[in-house]
Amino acid sequence: MDLVIATQNGHKIREIRTLLRPSGQFDIYSLLDFPDYVPPPETGETFEANARLKAEHAAKALGKWTLADDSGLVVSALGGEPGVYSARYAGENATDKENRKKLLKEMEGLDSDRRFAYFECCIVLASPQGIRKVATGHCEGLITEQERGGNGFGYDPLFIKHDYNQTFAELGELVKNQISHRAKALEKIMITLEGLL
Ligand code: IMP
Repeated sequence: MDLVIATQNGHKIREIRTLLRPSGQFDIYSLLDFPDYVPPPETGETFEANARLKAEHAAKALGKWTLADDSGLVVSALGGEPGVYSARYAGENATDKENRKKLLKEMEGLDSDRRFAYFECCIVLASPQGIRKVATGHCEGLITEQERGGNGFGYDPLFIKHDYNQTFAELGELVKNQISHRAKALEKIMITLEGLL
């Protein structure tokens, strides 16, 4: 069965592919396989609203079952920022590095008990006829005072999950894929996906 991951983010594609691999039953595509497809603007105010937008639009346009992920980092001391703006925190075309720099600046001087943050991921499964399943996963931890580690993407070098002492970027993909917000959301979707086979 064909399944499209509705993103162009190479890291997300790899993480989701790895998480889906054990089922071994899907022919997995991503938006990199459909260069003419133009995704809708992410105008939602929640992760779920944006994931719904992306999944519904791609499934209909491509005529295939689709998984869309919308995710980001929520920092309590910053009133929930960067939240749904995580990818463009430092500006519309900001790089991951620029976003991390801005986050560190905004959090400058905050001591450890004010550095709580969580990742949230909403994954939506849609068929060309509409949305079939919505699932959310969280991962709670702390924001470090400087970058650590060379793996992963986005805010990985700044995020330490509770009960761990290395950032996601230090732990690497193998460990991250067992404990991340994305893994938790996808686990809930798997039951529905396996039911389709
Ligand atoms: P989206 O592509 O609109 O869902 O934006 C997601 C943004 O949230 C990414 O560009 C990252 O900045 C951040 N993000 C989401 N998931 C992760 C993760 O697993 N690690 C690090 N950053 C993440």
